Amino acid sequence: MRPFAYTRTASSSAAVATVTADRDAKFLAGGTNLIDLMKDTVEAPALLVDINALPFGDIVEHRTFVRIGALARMSDTADHPAVVRIAPAVAEALLASASPQLRNAATIGGNLMQRTRCAYFRDVATACNKREPGRGCAAIDGINRQHAVLGGSRDCICVHPSDMAVALLAVDAIVRTRGPRGERSIPIAAFHTLPGDTPQIETVLEHGELIVAVDIPISRLASTSTYVKVRDRASYEFALVSVGAALSVRDGKIADARLGLGGIAPKPWRALASERALIGVAPSAAAFERAAEIAVGGARGYGHNDFKIPLVKRLIVKSLASVAA
Ligand SMILES: Cc1cc2nc3c(=O)[nH]c(=O)nc-3n(C[C@H](O)[C@H](O)[C@H](O)COP(=O)(O)OP(=O)(O)OC[C@H]3O[C@@H](n4cnc5c(N)ncnc54)[C@H](O)[C@@H]3O)c2cc1C
Repeated sequence: MRPFAYTRTASSSAAVATVTADRDAKFLAGGTNLIDLMKDTVEAPALLVDINALPFGDIVEHRTFVRIGALARMSDTADHPAVVRIAPAVAEALLASASPQLRNAATIGGNLMQRTRCAYFRDVATACNKREPGRGCAAIDGINRQHAVLGGSRDCICVHPSDMAVALLAVDAIVRTRGPRGERSIPIAAFHTLPGDTPQIETVLEHGELIVAVDIPISRLASTSTYVKVRDRASYEFALVSVGAALSVRDGKIADARLGLGGIAPKPWRALASERALIGVAPSAAAFERAAEIAVGGARGYGHNDFKIPLVKRLIVKSLASVAA
């Protein structure tokens, strides 16, 4: 680990100003991702600005939405009655993440900003364009069992690791931020970016922009959401593939649908064309299979990860059948 300076602040404007003023500064929340990466010298910030004293730890139910503070812990969020009722997919995704100890330390803001688990990204001896732009991607011709089948580029085929972010797609969550140019509300589907030829850029946040909360609108759709995850072990393991699904059915027809996919793309993947294909039809195995087929249109395996394409199709059908029921 390289030497770094540390400061703690209870003011969000001071936190934003301090990080904005120093290209090598980073916010520190639970530290469960950032400190690991610093120990492995994947990241080497010169200054850590500890934000744990900021007043963003609460979860509050309002008339039309529930607001989850960026410093709410994953465990508290998973157990919160309003989250369980308003957005069951989010509670399920959090409970399927990491371990109880990690969930007690890790925060909602940090979860959205966590970096890929690609083994080549985390090993500084190997080529990774995300860690070192221009160095190459060892995963494309390497061991790519965990890697992306959608949304990758010649420069990067990593997958985004957050379970919660996939579930947030199914409930139309909005990320609230405070940055050097003021406050913003960013729909979760527009928050993470695809690698293209700049895989080191992962979100639309500016340097120094702080996540302050995640809002989930109260809707019939969100309240009938679910999250299903397939992984190599039953706990303490990232997704091979996962699905966050929500359906609302009126008069025997699907009135609205959301489909978020995880473990298959460099960002939490919204299957928009599948959602559109579901609207107006009666819920049935055939309709769900068609939506699954559409979702993997254009998918490409790299050898070890080919199995993800049929697997995610089956998981889409299973999760849609589960919410329809
Ligand atoms: C062994 C292990 C297993 C895991 N398994 C899973 C899993 O199955 N599913 C899953 O989803 N996750 C899993 N995780 C990841 C875990 O969820 C993340 O490490 C955690 O959510 C990060 O939150 P944190 O508060 O610790 O963030 P930190 O490590 O403090 O920060 C992470 C990044 O976010 C930035 N950041 C933090 N807060 C903010 C903010 N408010 N605004 C802007 N930027 C911010 C930091 O600067 C840093 O770049 C696992 C982690 C470990 C170590």
